[in-house]
Amino acid sequence: MNECIFCKMVEKKIPVEIVDEDEDILAFKDIKPQAPIHVLVIPKIHIPSITSITKEHSRIMMKIIKSIQNIAKKTDIIDSGFRIVVNNGENAGQAVDHLHFHILGGRSLKWPPG
Ligand code: 5GP
Ligand code: ZN
Repeated sequence: MNECIFCKMVEKKIPVEIVDEDEDILAFKDIKPQAPIHVLVIPKIHIPSITSITKEHSRIMMKIIKSIQNIAKKTDIIDSGFRIVVNNGENAGQAVDHLHFHILGGRSLKWPPG
């Protein structure tokens, strides 16, 4: 049995506020937003992390990039700027082992991150 919470969101077993969706990707609002705009974009198939991506995922990865562009336009952060974050592994604090791209925007973001 798959215990991955993001897979459950894909299967619509856990409700989320959807921002973008097609047959390969899902984008939804983060439950604990760290900025006025905080959206997660995920592949619908279970890819554990950025280190698991292979050439076979090229089409899906391009779709994720297109979705990020569309969401940045839709949420009106395309001109003000935004950040894409992918936490990988323990030191980065990756809490969910299903690849996800954070889109953060709507405020000035500090650099370097903590
Ligand atoms: P990570 O720390 O793995 O990079 O990010 C996981 C993200 O998933 C966190 O920002 C967290 O707030 C978000 N998250 C965890 N559980 C849920 C949930 O049930 N619903 C939504 N919408 N976001 C979640
Ligand atoms: Zn999953």
